[in-house]
Amino acid sequence: MNRTRIADVLSKADIGARLTVMGWVRTRRDSKGGFSFIEINDGSALSGLQIVADQDLPNYRTEVLKLQTGCAIRAAGTLAQSPGKGQAVELHAGEIEVLGWADPDIYPLQKKRHSFEFLRTIAHLRPRTNTFGAVARVRNAAAMAIHRFFQDRGFIYLHTPVITGSDCEGAGDMFRVTAFDLDDVPKTEGRAALEKDFFGGPAGLTVSGQLEAEIYALAMGDVYTFGPTFRAENSNTSRHLAEFWMVEPEMAFCDLECNAAIAVEFLKYIFSYVLEHCTEDMRFFNRFIDNTVLSTLEGLADADFERLTYTEAVDLLSKAGEQFEFPVSWGVDLQSEHERYLCEKVFKKPVVVTDYPKSIKPFYMKLNADGNTVGAMDVLVPKVGEIIGGSQREDDYDTLLARMKETGLNPEDYWWYLELRKFGSVPHAGFGLGFERLIQFITGMANIRDVIPFPRTPGNVAF
Ligand code: ATP
Ligand code: MN
Repeated sequence: MNRTRIADVLSKADIGARLTVMGWVRTRRDSKGGFSFIEINDGSALSGLQIVADQDLPNYRTEVLKLQTGCAIRAAGTLAQSPGKGQAVELHAGEIEVLGWADPDIYPLQKKRHSFEFLRTIAHLRPRTNTFGAVARVRNAAAMAIHRFFQDRGFIYLHTPVITGSDCEGAGDMFRVTAFDLDDVPKTEGRAALEKDFFGGPAGLTVSGQLEAEIYALAMGDVYTFGPTFRAENSNTSRHLAEFWMVEPEMAFCDLECNAAIAVEFLKYIFSYVLEHCTEDMRFFNRFIDNTVLSTLEGLADADFERLTYTEAVDLLSKAGEQFEFPVSWGVDLQSEHERYLCEKVFKKPVVVTDYPKSIKPFYMKLNADGNTVGAMDVLVPKVGEIIGGSQREDDYDTLLARMKETGLNPEDYWWYLELRKFGSVPHAGFGLGFERLIQFITGMANIRDVIPFPRTPGNVAF
């Protein structure tokens, strides 16, 4: 089935060329002059192509006049300048073949605007809408930008396991993996006999590839992972998914400064790349979803991100005279409302917050000289809040061991992680970028369920 993608038809606009295109009908209008305009879209671009079908076509009356939204067709003909408004070119069809009908009485995607909530219930059809097509193309471009950024800088793309025996962030948020028949779990002394399970012990879906990435960073220098991540946190927010994609670079011979500098350069690179490669889609988001996304992303290309410590942030927030749902004081974790306040009200741009209290951060972050704070680094952006969480890692054996005991972890479970601090330990650092939060920020889409093709959230695993 030879075809030309509509994106290529539109960008080349090769008037007089003979072409075959295929796609799904968005609309059909019949003119009194005895011909019809059929707009088709094939997903390659936001814009569709207008097909002009003349009544002389052998199947004009039997088929063309019955085409409705959702039908799939093949059209072959000649590309011509379009005299009409709204498009530069149109295809004068010499032949139209119906590839697949769609009964208008039951096809759920009609020409009118549907709510995102409704579209989530028809995730098998929503990519045919303008918004979800545009999200898919922006996601694709952002993924490409991420690989480009790291590959151009010599980072090794590392594949870390999806099933893991270690829990990076501390217990609670992990999905368990088992091969047991849940109606007949082997027991020893009343408890599940995990030693008889598939892996011979507890296993779960990974919450982060960081610990494994550290292994490779301490051998190869600069590495990154980019894969699915799972968290069984029951937080029904517009920014949390149970399954999301995370990008985790890990860099040896790199401290907190170096980490923050790379994070900022990385984000700017992705923004410029998407602006350059998804111009039409970004204009669409700016027009219909959030009229600030274009100016925000363009502004960020040369603006600096604000930089402050957690202690300075808490100071600012407690003097803000603002009624927060969660009051701020030194030692409490920043909530999304605080993160957004800093970005949206105080600085009006992304903010890098560093040096959090050790009590609210995981065991592996580097203890600062003050003994109270760790070399953590979160990047916060307007509307979304935290988009990147990272840190310099503890590279001192004794300090790490003490932190593990302090936080109630069993050092035996992390023997290999500790050994990395025994043999050629070096300063190293890294961060995790939530890919869907990035796409939310870029597109302005309010709900994280609408920037991933098939969202997994509490109670939802359909499609
Ligand atoms: P939050 O406090 O917003 O839940 P976190 O502190 O749990 O985030 P990290 O453990 O630092 O986040 O994870 C790194 C990044 O992964 C975050 O900065 C965020 O962009 C993303 N992220 C974390 N949890 C989720 C989730 N449930 N769904 C989507 N993205 C997430
Ligand atoms: Mn979280």
